[in-house]
Amino acid sequence: MRRPSADYEFVVLGGGPAGLIAATTAAALGAKTALIERRLLGGTCLNTGCVPSKTLIRTGKWYADLRDGENFGARVPAGINVDFAAAMERMRRIRDRIGRKHSAPSLRGLGVDVYFGRARFAGPASVSVGGKILRFRKALVATGSRPLVPPIPGLAEAGYLTNENLFNLTERPRRLLVLGGGPLGCELAQAFSRLGCRVVIVEREPMFLRQEERDAAQILSGALARDGVEIHLNTQAVRVRRAGKEKRVDLVCDDDKSTVVVDEILVGVGRAPNVEGLGLEAAGIDYDAENGIHVDDFLRTSNPRVYSAGDACFEHRFAHIETASSRLVVRNALHGGRERVSALTIPWCTFTDPEIAHVGLYVRSARERGIPVKTFTVLMHDVDRAIADGEEEGFVKIHVREGSDKILGATVVARHAGEMINDLTLAIDAGLGLSAMAHVVHPYPTQAAAVRMAAEAFLAGHLKG
Ligand SMILES: Cc1cc2nc3c(=O)[nH]c(=O)nc-3n(C[C@H](O)[C@H](O)[C@H](O)COP(=O)(O)OP(=O)(O)OC[C@H]3O[C@@H](n4cnc5c(N)ncnc54)[C@H](O)[C@@H]3O)c2cc1C
Repeated sequence: MRRPSADYEFVVLGGGPAGLIAATTAAALGAKTALIERRLLGGTCLNTGCVPSKTLIRTGKWYADLRDGENFGARVPAGINVDFAAAMERMRRIRDRIGRKHSAPSLRGLGVDVYFGRARFAGPASVSVGGKILRFRKALVATGSRPLVPPIPGLAEAGYLTNENLFNLTERPRRLLVLGGGPLGCELAQAFSRLGCRVVIVEREPMFLRQEERDAAQILSGALARDGVEIHLNTQAVRVRRAGKEKRVDLVCDDDKSTVVVDEILVGVGRAPNVEGLGLEAAGIDYDAENGIHVDDFLRTSNPRVYSAGDACFEHRFAHIETASSRLVVRNALHGGRERVSALTIPWCTFTDPEIAHVGLYVRSARERGIPVKTFTVLMHDVDRAIADGEEEGFVKIHVREGSDKILGATVVARHAGEMINDLTLAIDAGLGLSAMAHVVHPYPTQAAAVRMAAEAFLAGHLKG
């Protein structure tokens, strides 16, 4: 039996970071808002992505520091055992705690009507959920993405892990093969190695993090190798066979063939947008299975009432991009805004140790656009605080338009690069030139002084020239 319909000013499909921020922002602005989630509020980020991975990375870092104790003047007891179950238990506790603020009661307290069930467009201005029809003035599709699984013969039969079930483990796999050397693969390979697994990582390209600068990726390779990760770059996994409890994975690198034997395989080769079963055709929303929902620079779909944000429509899949863009959707959809997503300054960070963070243009992308580039680099081993902390690996590299102090982009490789990139993001966003950054006073000693040192190098060259 069809239950009664309801009218809303704003209906949000998907309760991940993009959907949650959009729904709470819209409700705070006084719009009658509904949010529909088919599974768990918090989406990938809270349940199977950012939060559990960063929590395990922290425990892994602690064990890595402990093993390195002698470098800090500490006597380390022999034979440190990793308590994997306790690390996973801590992760779940923290996830629960962070998740509380996204619970249905707290959302309802903020004025959002929450519906659980699979959302499907019933027409250009209505969505069905659990037999109920919600009519809307504006809607947001924020249904996120899911892991891509490569068609490797035998993989499905042998069984594999993805981010969707990895964090349910209670026992440590003795040997783990990570397929994919992007941010997810590298972060988890390092964390699980530090938590005592024997990790093998396989990447098809000749370097990790293929969009990052080559020297950043090389530092990461060295760091993973030091952590004991067995690295296979330029390598494809071509077949998987199950032998009892073990999985045998055939690898090919140019003409070389080899086989690795592991207990578990973690697939981290990319993501596919969740666009199926949403009734997008009924609402006149254009999409394709690979790139997701098609949006313009205002994040509007081909249905002028409907917007999209997050992994369902973006090439770069990061929680902070999703939240920034869904705030923009609320302003555009409900308040007649004309804000462009291309105007946002978006940094990102891979949370390996050292971290690799980037904002703005890479040198190659500036050159492709015909922009002349000059780069100022400071090595972390010249930064007093990095030396004192024993965290000397990495660099700050700032690219400016040649002949000016306009910051085009920056890459930071450092233990806390994710924090250090923020000054540079602010500068680009506010239109501050690199010379202004030379005058910023930093407390002494901090690792972020590396940014000021690069700015001073710019000024020194400028004064000489
Ligand atoms: C292991 C891992 C680590 C990550 N680490 C980071 C990090 O450190 N920093 C960072 O910025 N990003 C990170 N990310 C990426 C980040 O998690 C995603 O970019 C972010 O979660 C995307 O948000 P979203 O709201 O677009 O989609 P999602 O988080 O995927 O949420 C979409 C929601 O929509 C729901 N849904 C789908 N279809 C329907 C339907 N028909 N009806 C109702 N509901 C539906 C889903 O159940 C889901 O809850 C990581 C990802 C992974 C996998």
